[in-house]
Amino acid sequence: MRGADSTGGAMREGRPLCAVFVSGTGTDVGKTVFTAALLRALRLAGVAAQAVKPVQTGVPAGEEYDALQADAPVYTAAVADLPPVPGLAPAAVLRCFSLPASPHLAAAYDGKRLKAAELARDILKHWDGLNGAAELLLLEGAGGLCVPLNKREDMLDLMDALDLPVLLVSGNGLGALNHTLLSLAALRDKGLRLAALALIPTQPAAAGAPDEDEARILADNPRMLRARLAQAGCDAPVLELPRLARLDGAAWQRLAAELSPLAEELRRSVECPRGEAAADLVSRDHGAVWHPYASAVELPPLCAARRSHDNRIVLADGRELIDGMSSWWAAAHGYNHPRLLAALRSQAGRMPHVMFGGLTHAPAVELAERLLAHMPRGLERVFFADSGSVAVEVALKMALQYQQGRGETRRTRFLTPRGGYHGDTLGAMSVCDPVTGMHSLFAGLLPRQIFMERPSCRFDAPFDPASLDDARRALEQHGKEIAAVILEPVVQGAGGMWFYHPDYLRGLAELCRGAGTLLIFDEIATGFGRTGKFFAAEWAGVTPDILCCGKALTGGMLTLAATACTGDVAREICREGRVFMHGPTFMANALACAVAGAALDILDENRWQGQVAGLETAMRQGLEPCRQLPGVADVRVLGGIGVVEMEQAVNTAALQTCFVEQGVWIRPFNRLIYLMPPYPSPATDVARLCAAVEEALRRGAHRADA
Ligand code: PMP
Repeated sequence: MRGADSTGGAMREGRPLCAVFVSGTGTDVGKTVFTAALLRALRLAGVAAQAVKPVQTGVPAGEEYDALQADAPVYTAAVADLPPVPGLAPAAVLRCFSLPASPHLAAAYDGKRLKAAELARDILKHWDGLNGAAELLLLEGAGGLCVPLNKREDMLDLMDALDLPVLLVSGNGLGALNHTLLSLAALRDKGLRLAALALIPTQPAAAGAPDEDEARILADNPRMLRARLAQAGCDAPVLELPRLARLDGAAWQRLAAELSPLAEELRRSVECPRGEAAADLVSRDHGAVWHPYASAVELPPLCAARRSHDNRIVLADGRELIDGMSSWWAAAHGYNHPRLLAALRSQAGRMPHVMFGGLTHAPAVELAERLLAHMPRGLERVFFADSGSVAVEVALKMALQYQQGRGETRRTRFLTPRGGYHGDTLGAMSVCDPVTGMHSLFAGLLPRQIFMERPSCRFDAPFDPASLDDARRALEQHGKEIAAVILEPVVQGAGGMWFYHPDYLRGLAELCRGAGTLLIFDEIATGFGRTGKFFAAEWAGVTPDILCCGKALTGGMLTLAATACTGDVAREICREGRVFMHGPTFMANALACAVAGAALDILDENRWQGQVAGLETAMRQGLEPCRQLPGVADVRVLGGIGVVEMEQAVNTAALQTCFVEQGVWIRPFNRLIYLMPPYPSPATDVARLCAAVEEALRRGAHRADA
């Protein structure tokens, strides 16, 4: 994972980097000449630009060689007749290797290793070292986009690490379309912006006028590429440049003149640095968008996110935050996981979505089979839903239709512990904690359910059978009205981040059986390894009648949830020709099912157990000092969940600001400051998350007056 050594924007001071990448569709397409001509055009447009080669191969390290053999002389020649920019050489080469080969091989040959994050840091260091003399860097890559830097990364990863627009240079001739279209697809898949596509004939003009066939190809290539870019909604210009036989002063003047509109465009981008663009986004958001649990009048503080990778969220102003939330339990494997992205892309190419009434597809069938194989034995059928809340609605409706099927028409209510959270749709809300779920707001509308005490026996204390007394009492008193008991097994999440003893579930399952009510486990937050077991039901060895899962099901990539039930429940619902009455438009969305399949592949590699155990150890150690701080009521950790419970509700806005200042993303609510980092987070990052919590409490950022 790149997280531990990425560009570290959070702590970066100084001017934001202003640069553009120049890359080719292959070697010898004219990239260096293009870069040099653009350098000239920029300088003529009044932009203090510098050409930089982060990696140059085929040149032994050493200053003399650099100057003589790298591309530096080409850049220098292009601007030789222009007034110099004070404090700014026309060009710089950051790393040289002797073997004329791909950077990974050239570096290995010299006994070195290249990493995208380190090269990105080199570039930032170089930019900072120019002390404001440069307004824009033209970063010329080595070879094409997919040229490897090491076993895992290639040039695209360096571009991604800095998130810069790309100027793609392609040789115009036979074969150009294939190479260029593949390169454009690679850029698009990486989410990088194409600033312009430049086509340069592969043959120099002096080699003789192209024959008729070649002329046809040269004229058709740009037409075809413009059409394809337009088809993909990309408005980047396609520039046609000549390949000149002699690079003399006149040649540089001609090329720079052709590139002057592009230079003007780049000059405008220099004038709007990223910080301003980020602030603009937040103010536009405040004018048009509503955020979760927020006022549309007293506007919440917001950070604009631009990119993500591994366990990092990169803000629009370039700061990079260590993620402590897994985007509300969902991004368990970190962001932009290559396996999930690959599954998404290949399914998108095949079939993104079809209705699920009367049709089926392999991603859904395989996912259902694999989910059932992971779920407690006895669950036999899966109903796909489009969010966790809908999966809960489905579970409640299943329980009601089950009871109707059995002729138990009086069983229309649900029993649930206080402190639960099951979603924000009406049925789901009715079984959330009545106080934190704000039932009073929707009193006339919500079905009135039956509440019992929250499971009082701590996860880490010896089991106290008396903790089941209230469940027993409620079932005795209301048993005949209750269709099902619904609860989150072992960990109550958003309702209080409370960890309770698994034996409670064993006892409850028995009580439910005795009372003829179904048992529903809401594993939407707890599923897929977060508590240290694949499903939290495994802590108790209990099979519920119905189980809901969601969130980490797709590794946080797309919205998808599932409700599984036993064969008995399915048969009762469907007795005498009846059907189950639910069918969302986006049911079993093929993209989401394919990504969920890839997320299961990652889990099936079985690294999650060690990773979650590592999170637990790191958070136990890292959060322990908080226990002594004033205002802290409890510190508890289970699996990949770490909680600091305060005595009073915290100041979420002030804490969020304090955390972002410290380069971490943690969003507390109510009395809870909690962490649930992506499973593969490096231990050093988990330590930084914990230290940030401690520091925020020491600074008093949690207080109402902070
Ligand atoms: N149940 C539980 C236990 C949850 O934690 C959540 C989401 N926080 C939900 C249901 C609702 O899921 P969604 O937000 O996807 O509707």
